[in-house]
Amino acid sequence: MSGLTLERLRRDGQSFTEEISRESYLAHAGHKPVAELKPIYDRYAHVLGKDALNLAIELFRSTDKTSDDHRSARYLLEWQIESQASRSLAELDEREIAWESSAYVETEDGRQVQYQAAAIEIANEPDRKLRLALDEARAALVELEHAPLRLERLQREKDYVESLGIASTYNGAFEEITGVSLEKLAGDCSRFLADTQPIWDDVLPTFLRRSVGIGPDEATRADGMRLLRAAEYDAAFPGSALESAIRRQISEMGLDPDVGGRIVYDVGDRPGKRSRAFCAPTRVPQEVYLVLRPHGGQSDYTTLLHETGHALHFANARSDYPFEFRWLGDNSVTESYAMLFDHRMQDKGWLLRYTELGRTRIDDFLRMAGFEELHFLRRYCAKLLYEVEAYGSRGDWRELPDLYVETLTRATTFQYRTADAFVDFDPRYYSTRYLRAWQLQSLINEALVERFDMDWYRNPTAGPWLVDNLWSEGQRESADEIAQRIGPPGTGLTFAPLVRNIEKLLES
Ligand SMILES: [Zn+2]
Repeated sequence: MSGLTLERLRRDGQSFTEEISRESYLAHAGHKPVAELKPIYDRYAHVLGKDALNLAIELFRSTDKTSDDHRSARYLLEWQIESQASRSLAELDEREIAWESSAYVETEDGRQVQYQAAAIEIANEPDRKLRLALDEARAALVELEHAPLRLERLQREKDYVESLGIASTYNGAFEEITGVSLEKLAGDCSRFLADTQPIWDDVLPTFLRRSVGIGPDEATRADGMRLLRAAEYDAAFPGSALESAIRRQISEMGLDPDVGGRIVYDVGDRPGKRSRAFCAPTRVPQEVYLVLRPHGGQSDYTTLLHETGHALHFANARSDYPFEFRWLGDNSVTESYAMLFDHRMQDKGWLLRYTELGRTRIDDFLRMAGFEELHFLRRYCAKLLYEVEAYGSRGDWRELPDLYVETLTRATTFQYRTADAFVDFDPRYYSTRYLRAWQLQSLINEALVERFDMDWYRNPTAGPWLVDNLWSEGQRESADEIAQRIGPPGTGLTFAPLVRNIEKLLES
């Protein structure tokens, strides 16, 4: 018998998670050239070994399925599996982080761009020839150096999870541990793609022609990035007003944007800072970093709103909850709070109040927002369908790049590249969290409108309501449970309210 108790697993598990989170934050924010993860995994080997896993499995199997103990067990088990897989892959992760922060893309005409900034530069490049050349060079580098690292990581993690024998397949194990049905969600995604195909075919050509000057047949993903960058609205979203606008909104909804010094905003440019923004809680709820590398224009507003939703959630979690309810759980929940905020970029009243868009351009912008929403949802539905196939495949991943290109290109019309098949891939089905969060945020928005009216975001009682009813709970409840708790009786997670919202925006 080992001496590992639930109490020790929680205590040391929390310290371990805090240290990993801090180290990743320092590296991704550009404060350190590499993340030294392996020493942390080694130091916490006692909560990342067979004993810890067996304890979590034992709790998962023995607790009453309707009890809070069972929730704890579920979250601890999922965390154990993820952390133990990551432990054996720590060296690979360190290599990837070091590679990402030092790699350069070099085009044939000698232009050099930091790999981390390539996506920003592609979206910002108005000259189509230069844009495609940069994307070509980026893809060549990905194929040669980044994709092999990611492929190895995905394969090794899948092998590890399958070796645990929780279910006979990776997908089966995911469903068993998380309680999320892949079959149902994939079915909903297929239906969403079919249902919205006519709208997509109808609206894409106009946006594409107007913004990039080309037709759907020749549009590539790089062109799509340019189109979605929506540079024509930059003047309405000045970088200088970004942080203050969002702080003002949080104050107007009755909350302190810093949550008494718990949230640190880091929105300046810095070499080595990752291009993808993130929120890093290093202690929940006491210390949360919100890191953004400015791209310019409206996308920075969307991103800062999104990360602010995460940060407010973590910084307001009840400090007396156990580790697993503050740190672990169904990430669809935290993503739904992030999306509740980023969806203000589709909210007429919010845009008029906190940006410089003005009444003359608002309807134009809302139509663009509807188009964007449709695009991102179609992209994520396609990603999930592809990832279900990838994780379900019997070990041979060679055909996946073609499947990736076919699935993503069909859903978005933009021509995707085989090089990105393993880089544009959310490990461990994070895409299910996003998709469910998308569904949940629309229900939370409806609940807020019902209680506090259309402009809930500036109602000084709405913020405290969110804290008391949702954020303080951390991630104790699943997204489905929250949907049922805050919605009308019988409410579930579906795409229906999202389709209605897209139609409304496109008719602005
Ligand atoms: Zn997020």
